Amino acid sequence: MYQTVELTLPAQKTIALIAHDNKKSAMLAWVKANRDRLAHHRLCGTGTTARIIADETGLPVRAYNSGPLGGDQQIGSRIAEGQIDCVIFFWDPLTAQPHDPDVKALLRIALVYDIPIANNPATADFMIRSPLMDSEYTRPITNFKAAADSRAAAFAAGEQL
Ligand code: PGA
Repeated sequence: MYQTVELTLPAQKTIALIAHDNKKSAMLAWVKANRDRLAHHRLCGTGTTARIIADETGLPVRAYNSGPLGGDQQIGSRIAEGQIDCVIFFWDPLTAQPHDPDVKALLRIALVYDIPIANNPATADFMIRSPLMDSEYTRPITNFKAAADSRAAAFAAGEQL
């Protein structure tokens, strides 16, 4: 029912890295194992994850707020603005999180914008080795401006939204 628009992910990706506390060791090990593959992309992440990766690997990682303090929401907003191209998010399926609504919101917005998102090391391995990681990738996503325009026009015409 919505129109779509073609959007292109660039060859040099901006990759968001996020790991819950019980998954930080797995994230660090994964980043170390893939350091050379990651080095020519731009990295960012939630506060603690970003800091640990930067300290332990020397890679530059832009740090947003810590996840429970709004970092997941910041990353979600960058996805909606088209500024983040991929997400590696090792979330913990065995521990309740105080910011569970934010976690769900981030997972949801990544789907809305159809960006690659890996939630475990195996998927991240497949993703980082894909030839698409180092080339442009164009996909159709919902044209949210056209959707808002047509809903506003329908409202102005007195139609049911
Ligand atoms: P952190 O946040 O990297 O600041 O620990 C991760 C999260 O819990 O979402």
